[in-house]
Amino acid sequence: MSEQFVLPSPIQELSHPLFQAKKVQVFVKRDDLIHPIISGNKWRKLKYNLEAAREQNFPTLLTFGGAFSNHIAATAVAGQVFGFQTIGIIRGEEYLPLNPTLKLAKEKQMRLIYVNRSDYRTKDRLALAESLVTEPFYFIPEGGTNALALKGCGEILEEESSQQFNYICVSCGTGGTISGIIQAAKRDQKVIGFSALKGDFLKKEIINLLGRKYDNWTLQTDYHFGGYAKFKGELIDFINQFRAEHFIQLDPIYTSKLFYGVLDLIKKNYFPENSKILVIHTGGLQGIRGFNERFGNLI
Ligand SMILES: *Cc1c(COP(=O)(O)O)cnc(C)c1O
Repeated sequence: MSEQFVLPSPIQELSHPLFQAKKVQVFVKRDDLIHPIISGNKWRKLKYNLEAAREQNFPTLLTFGGAFSNHIAATAVAGQVFGFQTIGIIRGEEYLPLNPTLKLAKEKQMRLIYVNRSDYRTKDRLALAESLVTEPFYFIPEGGTNALALKGCGEILEEESSQQFNYICVSCGTGGTISGIIQAAKRDQKVIGFSALKGDFLKKEIINLLGRKYDNWTLQTDYHFGGYAKFKGELIDFINQFRAEHFIQLDPIYTSKLFYGVLDLIKKNYFPENSKILVIHTGGLQGIRGFNERFGNLI
């Protein structure tokens, strides 16, 4: 594996007067440090898919994503590092100049194909891809979530003696990452998902991904700050303050909402005394440049 990868990723304890007052311990699994671009859960989800693509002799990876997608960036860079051609089917029309995410993808030789929003919404993405591309490809769904992705995400817990943690907290988009963690968690561990999207549909998606009933998880749906990729000044202040206090950068789409939610639950005495809480930093920092370009260097 390329030297750029930091695996296993480190676990770091945070200190804060709040944690002392509430008698809890908070640790961060620094998956953001795995790789500058193929970071966090996007690496976890790609790992076994890259293996499968190689075993099945596919020269090309094809996947889907929005114009600022961490998964598109990760797939483009992974393609170059591991020797695959890549095709990204992008939601919406092309805007020039390209935003930093798509510019990077293109620099890494990803072929970008733009699809209008109504076509993009189709349930049968594979058929859509086959109508757009003639060569054979290894198909990876939007966000990278499939059965092999769940297997890779389970390894977040297996890397170290995770049994010492009572709670595992993680951000949710498609629900792939939390599903892999739920499957890998020990019986006495509780997994808490923090939805980055507005609405209740995610719970069903996670139940579908899991394939059978698990009792060790819950979903927090009150920390979306208005919905996917929406934010408020309070969230921006939180990101900047968190970096100043802990020297850890959070992203505006996922991990800031997660950490905000965890701290809020601690304040509200959600966690019993002596709890050990592991918060997964799923990465996503590549998106900050594009975010700052759009909204004016807030982070
Ligand atoms: C994609 C992403 C998520 C969401 O993961 P899912 O498996 O889709 O739930 C969370 N955090 C970051 C930083 C991401 O890039």
